[in-house]
Amino acid sequence: MLTETISASGLEDILQKVVEGERLDFSDGVRLYQAEDLNVVGYLANIVREQKNGSIAYYIRNQHINYTNICNKLCKFCSFYVTPRDERGYVLEPEVIRARVREFRDYPIREIHMVGGINPKLPYEYYLDIVRAVRDERPQAHVKAFTMIELAQLERVAKKPLEEVLTDLKTAGLDCCPGGGAEVFSNRVHEELFRAKLDNEGWFDVARVVHRSGLRSNATMLYGHIETVEEKVKHLIHIRELQDETGGFLCFVPLAFDPQNTELSHLPPPTGQQNLREIALARLMLDNFDHVKAFWIMVTPPVAQVAMWYGADDIDGTVAHYEITHALGATSHRQALSEADLLHLIAEARRDAVERDAFYNPVVSSEGLPHSDAARDTNDVEATAC
Ligand code: SF4
Repeated sequence: MLTETISASGLEDILQKVVEGERLDFSDGVRLYQAEDLNVVGYLANIVREQKNGSIAYYIRNQHINYTNICNKLCKFCSFYVTPRDERGYVLEPEVIRARVREFRDYPIREIHMVGGINPKLPYEYYLDIVRAVRDERPQAHVKAFTMIELAQLERVAKKPLEEVLTDLKTAGLDCCPGGGAEVFSNRVHEELFRAKLDNEGWFDVARVVHRSGLRSNATMLYGHIETVEEKVKHLIHIRELQDETGGFLCFVPLAFDPQNTELSHLPPPTGQQNLREIALARLMLDNFDHVKAFWIMVTPPVAQVAMWYGADDIDGTVAHYEITHALGATSHRQALSEADLLHLIAEARRDAVERDAFYNPVVSSEGLPHSDAARDTNDVEATAC
């Protein structure tokens, strides 16, 4: 039956490549995007997912902090930013960030994820101070902060080479970087949607230096706006080439565009089918990435749960205070899940939950068990934290 379905979809040759571990090319990617039967694409992606990660579904206890919403880049797909003169603008002083971290001091957070807008008024020392504040307050958590776009801004305000900026940040306590800001590597999309922001080549240049400095990062792709299938496949191949070169990417995160309260609010949001296809395509094209994430806060928890069978091996985390796609009342999506909720989603999907740190090391309880096994008895702690 399955053989007939794959045969009817015309993807037998891709199945063979996947089984033999052969790299997929541009035309394979386009065909997978255009294939009518999403379940066949998901089946293929699941083969790769299980080759790499078996039945494991990673999750993390994390906290997000958006240190400023002021930004001068004016990206048309962004509902988070306000311009420098807007009275709704904010900057979190280091002491406020410290207090936010302290709020969760009884909760074993493993990663603090910190990003913000490109605020031209912030001095270089501010960025170092906020990393130090998090590091001081939470020495055991990994500090993941600053996209390639923000790092380019830091280089500008520091007036020194990026290599030196990264050394300063590491000394302050930075452990790794997130992947946002890549959007879609297409000059056309860059020109139409985010022309004030670092261009594609600039993003790659910064990522190269970051990886060379010993810091690892994620990579992303924002989909569901004006991009074409061909542009998305090229994006994935460019990211794959950089991973061949540096080996510095930890995880790929397909980011679903949320049009509400953006200049593109006339566009429909991505559907569940599209979200699953993007995750599956990432898993199939990025043969040199260990992990693909279903970021539940963007694709919704139910879709993230199903995505565990469509290529994703990571459902992200408990996520306290995520504002980037939810600014200005943009959506009614949930912004935090308890660990019990995450464990339930994963168990119902019949995958094996493993709590991880920022580098995908399993978190082990004091009894030597993976933390997911120990955590089932401590749901009261999670419920109060989230
Ligand atoms: S996506 Fe980032 S750079 Fe673009 S406007 Fe929003 S905050 Fe600024």
